[in-house]
Amino acid sequence: MAFSDITTPDYWDCECPTDYVHRSFVSSCHLCGALREEQPDSRRTEVDQLETV
Ligand SMILES: [Zn+2]
Repeated sequence: MAFSDITTPDYWDCECPTDYVHRSFVSSCHLCGALREEQPDSRRTEVDQLETV
């Protein structure tokens, strides 16, 4: 498994083209309507980029 494939349960991806990483306590995206329980966990690399901005 490549590092870029490692996911974290603390975040998830919605369907938005940008700003699609949400904290796990956010149950849905108010922009695209994606539900946390139906969406995949975010990849670590995505979260790392988010937190360094
Ligand atoms: Zn969204």
